[in-house]
Amino acid sequence: MRNSLEAYRKFSPQQDRGPIITIDGPAAAGKSTAARLLAQRLGYLYLDTGAMYRALTWKALRDKVDMKDKRALSQLAEETQITLSCQADGKLKVYVDGEDVTTSIRSAEVDRFVSFVSSIKEIRERMVLQQRKMGMRGKVVAEGRDMGTVVFPEAEVKIFLEASLKERARRRWEERREKGVFLEREEVETELANRDRMDSQRKISPLKKAEGAIVIDNTHLSISQTVERILQVVREKLNR
Ligand code: C5P
Repeated sequence: MRNSLEAYRKFSPQQDRGPIITIDGPAAAGKSTAARLLAQRLGYLYLDTGAMYRALTWKALRDKVDMKDKRALSQLAEETQITLSCQADGKLKVYVDGEDVTTSIRSAEVDRFVSFVSSIKEIRERMVLQQRKMGMRGKVVAEGRDMGTVVFPEAEVKIFLEASLKERARRRWEERREKGVFLEREEVETELANRDRMDSQRKISPLKKAEGAIVIDNTHLSISQTVERILQVVREKLNR
């Protein structure tokens, strides 16, 4: 365990790796879509780390694990194989022990419990190691809450993507409505605010702007304008 703890704390960038771009920020700020499109434009790997925490939460709910039992949840993480696979169209497929859970991990129930699951130290340690392994060679766009602060502190480009709570709730509500899920706008807003609060206030790897990160507020930007703005930062940073 000491070895894994050491590895968790230290990130030794490879000399010959490609660039790493990190995108952190609150829930529903458009990070996933922006990261996916950016990775596609650059021919980079897209790493959606929220999907990993969601996948574990999904399995815990399916297996009726006591959602307050940190030890049981950590044990579950040890026994669980989470795989992210990039498709030809740039979209991501998420597998838990070989089962495709891409759609199921976006449920309201997973939304409700994921921030607690992701606050557990042992679970984060495992996830961070796996994320570093996946991003080790660089040429990666890594998206989450602690990408620039903890997982890839040596990243060449760090972005903190945010938008007003009202606008984020509107987008999430719209997204769910398109999928046939009808929620109250206030309900969505409360869920996002709760998750942001838990993610920002937890002891380990809280959501915060990384040192040197460029803040982009996309409240009034479309997704393609957001991607263009990030690309502009990437070009400035990498051509230096
Ligand atoms: O990005 P997404 O909303 O899918 O993330 C779901 C949850 O996973 C977040 O609310 C947060 O609790 C957790 N998460 C995290 N660290 C990351 C990515 C996500 O704690 N790097």
